[in-house]
Amino acid sequence: MKKIRTRFAPSPTGYMHIGNLRTALFEYLIAKHEDGDFLLRIEDTDQGRKVDGAVDVIYDTMKTCKLFWDEGPDIGGDFGPYVQSERLGMYKGYAEKLIELGGAHHCFCTECELEALRKEAGDSFKFVDPCRNLTKEQVQEKLDAGVPYVIRQTIENVEMTSYYDEVYGQIDVDAKDLEEQVLIKSDGFPTYNFANIIDDHTMNITHVVRGNEYLSSTPKYNLVYDSYGWDRPTYVHVPPVMKDEQHKLSKRNGDASFQDLVAKGYLPEAIINYIALLGWSPETDQEIYTMEELIKVFNVKRISKSPAIFDIEKLTWMNGEYIKAMDPEVFFEMVKPIVEEIVTKPYDLKEIASLTQSRIKRIAKEEIEPLIDFFESLPDYDLEMYKHKKMKTTMENSIEPLKEAYKALEALENWEDAQAIQDTLMELPAKLEVKNGRILWPVRTAVSGKQFTPGGAMEIAHILGKEETLRRIQVGIERLEAGLA
Ligand SMILES: [Zn+2]
Repeated sequence: MKKIRTRFAPSPTGYMHIGNLRTALFEYLIAKHEDGDFLLRIEDTDQGRKVDGAVDVIYDTMKTCKLFWDEGPDIGGDFGPYVQSERLGMYKGYAEKLIELGGAHHCFCTECELEALRKEAGDSFKFVDPCRNLTKEQVQEKLDAGVPYVIRQTIENVEMTSYYDEVYGQIDVDAKDLEEQVLIKSDGFPTYNFANIIDDHTMNITHVVRGNEYLSSTPKYNLVYDSYGWDRPTYVHVPPVMKDEQHKLSKRNGDASFQDLVAKGYLPEAIINYIALLGWSPETDQEIYTMEELIKVFNVKRISKSPAIFDIEKLTWMNGEYIKAMDPEVFFEMVKPIVEEIVTKPYDLKEIASLTQSRIKRIAKEEIEPLIDFFESLPDYDLEMYKHKKMKTTMENSIEPLKEAYKALEALENWEDAQAIQDTLMELPAKLEVKNGRILWPVRTAVSGKQFTPGGAMEIAHILGKEETLRRIQVGIERLEAGLA
């Protein structure tokens, strides 16, 4: 069997659209599943769209997502160059060869003439190029006279054209519905589609993965392959990634790119894992996959024909799972700048960060801040928070436990040992003959001033240190006494 070779051929736009990243991922998985080659080719001939630094965005995104290429502009390979603007010289020769083979012809129609034909035919316009009927001599005469021309595909003597798509199955298109497209423009440069065919063939690409909007134009490209006598590639047309039932996900409409998601605190691994499941389903219920696992189980036969809806809630859930599973050291390094912004006092930031790891869904300040801002300063909290039905606490019966906790903790010498703080507090329920909650709820409320906190009273007290813990408990006692007076 031929070695599988796939390529990702993005245009440098300055961001990575989620749909494009999914295409890259599928191409990568198809190649790697069979131990094949994955190529990166930059399609930069659309000068109007060129953005400074945009090629680096492509490199960075791919590397961050662990989509490592075997050949590409930066690392070379046997089939270069891998940047389309450096290949521009080769296309015209291929087009001229195609003319000799009967698959294309010179077309001298001007835009005016085309417009007139369009008007005449109205909605049913189908361009039949009159230049097809020019004799060799007539063509040469025009070329010698310097008449501007394009090279246009010739589609004749074909009735039905068919191919097999790995996702959509057998596709039959009546050749009557195929328009003879321009291959080389009047400026001598190739059209996007023609350049693609030549690049794919000369790079030995075996599998072409692209959006299903190409399903109906693929027969035209196949006829070009046929005219040259080249093997057609295997086609994998994929359904679009949608924002909702009606709308495609699109950066132009303000939908998030890969870069936007990362900026919002989504982890590249989680994004890749999530988009692998957009339009593809594994054979089992497993949802969390490493790249190695994806390579192993990926199968084009399980790509869906129907559009996939990008569900940010699902991605957010998955991201939370990835955060939970992170190595605590790595997690801390990642959230450290955010934690430092929120807590400036000399507490153990690593311990504070660890309280958030299982509770946040994104690495983002707006997720972390409400969880830990009380370490920086005790909020001016509502005394009603001492009331808790299940814990059987009230404002009145919270005062004594706070006083007892203050006394016990004040006597505790070794604050470095979190276990000692715990043991000290856990002696109190027996002493006062109450349940744990009657002690722990008021203490937690007093030290945090929050209805909900990551971590319990003992963890918070340990981080705050003895002095600040006692101060906060004292504040609680005084405020309760004043409030009840
Ligand atoms: Zn013409």
